[in-house]
Amino acid sequence: MDVLVVGSGIAGVSFAEEFHKLVPADSITVVTTETAGYYSRPLLSHGFTRDDIETRIIMRRFPDMEQSGIRVESGVEVTALDPVKHRVTLSSGSGKTKSLRYDKLVLAPGSAALVPAPFLNGEESYRVLNSLADLLELRRLRAELQHAGVQPRWAVIGGGLIGCEVASDLPRAGDRVILFHALPRLMERQLVEEDSATLLSVLRTDQIDVRLEAKVLGFAGAPGNLAVLTADTTETGFHGILVACGFKPRIELPKAAGIATGRGILVNPFLTTSADDVYAIGDAAECSDGRLYAYVTPIRHQALWLARHLAGLADSPWQPPAFKPKAKVHGFIATHPYLL
Ligand SMILES: Cc1cc2nc3c(=O)[nH]c(=O)nc-3n(C[C@H](O)[C@H](O)[C@H](O)COP(=O)(O)OP(=O)(O)OC[C@H]3O[C@@H](n4cnc5c(N)ncnc54)[C@H](O)[C@@H]3O)c2cc1C
Repeated sequence: MDVLVVGSGIAGVSFAEEFHKLVPADSITVVTTETAGYYSRPLLSHGFTRDDIETRIIMRRFPDMEQSGIRVESGVEVTALDPVKHRVTLSSGSGKTKSLRYDKLVLAPGSAALVPAPFLNGEESYRVLNSLADLLELRRLRAELQHAGVQPRWAVIGGGLIGCEVASDLPRAGDRVILFHALPRLMERQLVEEDSATLLSVLRTDQIDVRLEAKVLGFAGAPGNLAVLTADTTETGFHGILVACGFKPRIELPKAAGIATGRGILVNPFLTTSADDVYAIGDAAECSDGRLYAYVTPIRHQALWLARHLAGLADSPWQPPAFKPKAKVHGFIATHPYLL
């Protein structure tokens, strides 16, 4: 059997390794736009304080996966899918394309950063922290400023989990930060009010200027002197603006192929999409309970379950495990369970 996996995040790689372990005789190929290897996305938000991050973050190098018997097509994007012919089209940066056939296809394309519509026309102004490439670019910008003797000054937009984590890491690395959050309390989707208040106090103690009920309307200025506009103020003098307003499952490829999508790729309790022999896992999969399990613990659990299912070893539906998310904000520990 030829098994093809799209994506080399925790979903795709955990599935591929487990399936290969269980059914070594079948052929398995991972296709990915990444080139550096499979890396830990959670570590991205501590990517400013750790000097060794560029090597430490890599969990698996692609040549090592190849050596273990998993084929990897790296630096390549799956740009089309034909569920009837069981084929995908691969496109490389150089414009070359090729077609691959599959018996089973596992979609694990993850998610992009969600950028609210009012910011989209200011593309030159803002950045996101969603991939290793984003982190390397941000680190390059910081290094340039530091080399010129300038203390970097950042606006972080969004006081959710990722916004708070990144806002907490930058000052520890020596930078100045203003965190803008539209709502009256931080991480309101994950924390009870009391813990939001503790988080606010931890961030402020770390010299982070937190602005609550500060809905950002847009950006202005030029690189090196960017401005953030709210209804009440225009704050100027930023070297970088980081948008951390949530995530957007990558559904474009299956959607164009006629596979059912909602916010994510719709799957039944067996993680099967509306197309025969096509499965979806990870940030991109919208489960039959209407939820996206966008945390590493349930994603790894999905991937291992699907590997066992396709190996004929699991025939009852996937059940999400109990899991506890945890914000990686320096000096903060929630005293109440996270809301899920
Ligand atoms: C900054 C940050 C901090 C986080 N912290 C935590 C945390 O502390 N705890 C936690 O549980 N979760 C955390 N998360 C969320 C967690 O990282 C994600 O839920 C998880 O990484 C998703 O894994 P995935 O394999 O589904 O997708 P991804 O990791 O997004 O991997 C998908 C891969 O598929 C590739 N791809 C996509 N489309 C194609 C295509 N058409 N062709 C080829 N390749 C393609 C992409 O390039 C990508 O490499 C964090 C996320 C971020 C961004």
